[in-house]
Amino acid sequence: MAEIRLKNVSKIFKDEKVVKDIDITIKDGSFTVIVGPSGCGKSTTLRMIAGLERQTSGEIWIGDDCVNDTEPGKRNIAMVFQNYALYPTMTVRGNIEFGLVNKKIPKEEREKLIQDISEIVGLTEYLDQKPQNLSGGQRQRVALARAMVKKPKVFILDEPLSNLDAKLRGQMRIELIQLHKKLGTTFVYVTHDQVEAMSMGDEIIVLNKGTVQQMDSPMNVYHNPENVFTAEFIGTPA
Ligand code: ADP
Ligand code: MG
Repeated sequence: MAEIRLKNVSKIFKDEKVVKDIDITIKDGSFTVIVGPSGCGKSTTLRMIAGLERQTSGEIWIGDDCVNDTEPGKRNIAMVFQNYALYPTMTVRGNIEFGLVNKKIPKEEREKLIQDISEIVGLTEYLDQKPQNLSGGQRQRVALARAMVKKPKVFILDEPLSNLDAKLRGQMRIELIQLHKKLGTTFVYVTHDQVEAMSMGDEIIVLNKGTVQQMDSPMNVYHNPENVFTAEFIGTPA
């Protein structure tokens, strides 16, 4: 079980409380989208879940474990950022393999893993290429593959498609939904785009100014908004 729970979690930067006593549950195996305007605390929330940022107060649980004091590498979470930093001097294979660093996996097994994952994300033909020779979508797939090779319990994706053009973004949305189905792993996906949120999530968490406005199915968020913010934000296309 890898249900993620935030209990009364807050984050204060200097004097500003940017995440305010939030309680959220992310169901095991779900595709949960956290959506809200720029600056509302989405990335900070993800970084606290991943352990890259320590909450000022509250507790974070993954399954049966309180992970407040668990270092990022031990949380079994892989993160894909919007500015996916690939190593320019390494090949695609090298970049994917880098996800395995510190894991003592025999060479043959590593190669098998890289092959399997490249197949899933459609990169088999590009394993010996350098990132500079790839398109934006292919680079995004390398970043995904690098996260997948760790076989994490949870994927955290922070606006991973925002650097892509509209057409490719649409295609990658579909690919990510398919990937989620295939892996069955929990996905926590952040976007400021309500259309993206509604089309991808099976659970939606609407965030504004560091507070949870609604945590619900896309249907309910759309048809039964609990407050004016949710109604206006979800109802108004970007
Ligand atoms: P979002 O991802 O929803 O755009 P963020 O979580 O990045 O929002 O930021 C929430 C608020 O916290 C913003 O006002 C931002 O300026 C502030 N913030 C984020 N990270 C830091 C930091 N390391 N130091 C100070 N303020 C920060
Ligand atoms: Mg952000």
